[in-house]
Amino acid sequence: MQFRDLQKQYQKLKPDIDTVVTKVINTGNFISGQQVSDLEERLAEYVGVKYCITCGNGTDALSLALMTWNIGPGDAVFVPDFTFFASGEVVAFEGAIPVFVDIDEDTFNMSPASLDEAIQIVKKEGKLIPKAIIAVDLFGQPADYSGIRKVAEKYGLLLLEDGAQGFGGQMDGCKACSLGDISTTSFFPAKPLGCYGDGGAVFTNNEEWAGLLKSYRIHGKGLDKYDNVRVGMNSRLDTLQAAILQVKLKAFCDYELENVNKVAARYTQNLEGLVKLPIIKKGYYSSWAQYSILLKDEKERNGLQVYLKEHEIPSMIYYPKTMHQQRAFQGMNCVKVKLTVSENVCQRVLALPLHPYLEPQEQDRVISCIEDFMENKSKEEKQNLVF
Ligand SMILES: *Cc1c(COP(=O)(O)O)cnc(C)c1O
Repeated sequence: MQFRDLQKQYQKLKPDIDTVVTKVINTGNFISGQQVSDLEERLAEYVGVKYCITCGNGTDALSLALMTWNIGPGDAVFVPDFTFFASGEVVAFEGAIPVFVDIDEDTFNMSPASLDEAIQIVKKEGKLIPKAIIAVDLFGQPADYSGIRKVAEKYGLLLLEDGAQGFGGQMDGCKACSLGDISTTSFFPAKPLGCYGDGGAVFTNNEEWAGLLKSYRIHGKGLDKYDNVRVGMNSRLDTLQAAILQVKLKAFCDYELENVNKVAARYTQNLEGLVKLPIIKKGYYSSWAQYSILLKDEKERNGLQVYLKEHEIPSMIYYPKTMHQQRAFQGMNCVKVKLTVSENVCQRVLALPLHPYLEPQEQDRVISCIEDFMENKSKEEKQNLVF
């Protein structure tokens, strides 16, 4: 059993993917071919925003957004403490300070209350200027944008949506990647919509920012790439990846997103009451980048992971460390915000095998393995009480 079976997906899409790949190679437009602009148009339409600017990966997408907003030294950017490293890394890369904010245990996403508290602390200290918030759609569920947006407006901050795991999700009928002032996603192979290498995209309704994003991604180009009006980067989605993504986006819309939701619902039905399950809030729809459960404590979590492994079931710990515990940020983040939920969740979280092509029989094996583990555990505990 695969944790995320990309091979099965390829077997299904092989005729279409092979055709488009051959076409790109025969045409020879490897950079900025027609497929790239066609894909950008299709993605913007799907997400429901005016502009989509594809780029080299999801990390560059975030950096391009921060560059567009001129975020730099002396600025504070608020980032959830529980996310993939890149969400905070890009802030430090621009020379600004990432200030980590606690999360909600049910959704794993940024807590608006903790965000408000963190902003107040930074303002009180007076050393940094609060500039922006990076909200992350962790594991596929959009962050609490109604709560976060209120805080952003209260303090006049820009809101960046890191939708690397959120593509395909929804909040109140709006698609993920349309929920920030600028939103980004990643096409890393294991993300909800992945390509066959690195890829990413930036989304916005703001025409001026869209222009800056297009410039920054190609060496700060002015009229063309040999007229350079600002210092940018080289971060393009190549034509092969765009062609592959066109095929994959169709499958994603036609059935993959629906199927992965069915698989997730099946876990939820069968594991209810056994372990703490991820909660999709009312009005939200997840693209299920991960199905992450919470165990009682670190010992139980690690025990279950070993037990699953003994039965040849892969599982992953996203994430074993909080952001503020990462060595790269030591000494940088001097702002003291309480991060108790995030610290606790890191010790208890475990992601189960999940993808649109997971067979019911495979999933039943995962479920019964978890049932057995929990049953053995409660038997042991009872015995310990008797003797
Ligand atoms: C994967 C990921 C990124 C980075 O995307 P890459 O394409 O790997 O650069 C950023 N943020 C989050 C939350 C991610 O999961």
